[in-house]
Amino acid sequence: MEIVTTKSALNAFLHQHRAAAKTIGFVPTMGALHQGHLALIDAAKQVANIAVCSIFVNPTQFTQAADLDNYPRPIDHDVSLLSSRGCDVLFLPSVGEMYAPGETWNLPLGELEHVLEGEFRPGHYQGVTQIVYKLFAAVQPDVAFFGQKDFQQVKVIDKMVHDLQLPVKLQMCPIVREADGLAMSSRNVHLSATERQDALALSRVLFLTRERFGTVPVQQLEADGTQLLAASPGIALEYFRICDRDTLHPARPESKTVVALVAARVGATRLIDNVLLEA
Ligand code: AMP
Repeated sequence: MEIVTTKSALNAFLHQHRAAAKTIGFVPTMGALHQGHLALIDAAKQVANIAVCSIFVNPTQFTQAADLDNYPRPIDHDVSLLSSRGCDVLFLPSVGEMYAPGETWNLPLGELEHVLEGEFRPGHYQGVTQIVYKLFAAVQPDVAFFGQKDFQQVKVIDKMVHDLQLPVKLQMCPIVREADGLAMSSRNVHLSATERQDALALSRVLFLTRERFGTVPVQQLEADGTQLLAASPGIALEYFRICDRDTLHPARPESKTVVALVAARVGATRLIDNVLLEA
C-alpha cells in the first residue's frame, strides 16, 4: 500500500491510474479503524479498480475540544489493517495540508443541518462538508463510500454533491455491529466494561422498534423507545426519533420508508446508532 501525505503526491499516484482508465473508489475516515471501516474498503475494491482511504481527524467538525484531543489515533495499527485488506493508497494529510490559516466555510444545507445531530452538535455538518469537499477535490473519486452508521451525514453529503453538482457517486454501506448488537465505533474504546453493557440499550431499543414497526403507530414507537432509553441505566439520552428516510422530517403515520435514530451519552462517550424500518 502506498502512503502519501500531500495532495500533490496523491495526485501523482492517482494520475497514472486515471490515465490507464482505472476507476477510483474513496473511503474517507478519521482512523482508529474497525470492521465497519474495512467493510467500506471491501465495497470500494468491489466497485472500483483503485481503493483510496483517507485518515484525517478533522478539527472543524468537532464541537468539543476534549473530544478532538481524546480521539484515538492508532496509526500503525490502521496502516496494517488497511494494507492487509488490500487498500491501494492511504492519504494521511496534516491539518496544514488541508486548511489555509483563517479560512472560512459556509455551505447552505437548509434544515438538514439543524435537526437531530445538528441540534446537539451545532456547526458539525459545516465542518464535515468543508473537509469532504476538500477530500473529494484531492482524490477526485468516481465513487465514495459512507456508512449508514452516520445516516444524517450521508444525507448532508448527498445534498452537497447535488447542489454543487460534484462529479462523484455516493454509496451507503450497512452498519457493521459487534456480535451483541453494539454498532462498531472508534469511540467504543473509551467505554468501561459497565458502560459497554449499558450501551447495548441503544441497539436493543432500535431492534425492538424495527420488530414492532408496521403494527404499532410511529408516534407510539417513538414514545415507547424514548421511555425505554430514558429509563435505561447509564444512558443519558439526547434523542430517539423516527424520521422520513429522505427528508429526516418526523415520520407521518402513513410513511413507508423511515429510519429510527438514536444519540446518547454513555458516561463521557457520545454514541449514535440507527436502523432502517420497513413495513
Ligand atoms: P469515521 O472514521 O467515524 O469518520 O467513519 C468513517 C466512515 O466509516 C463513515 O462513513 C462512517 O459512517 C463509517 N462507519 C463508522 N462506523 C461504521 C460501522 N459500524 N458500520 C459501517 N460504517 C461505519
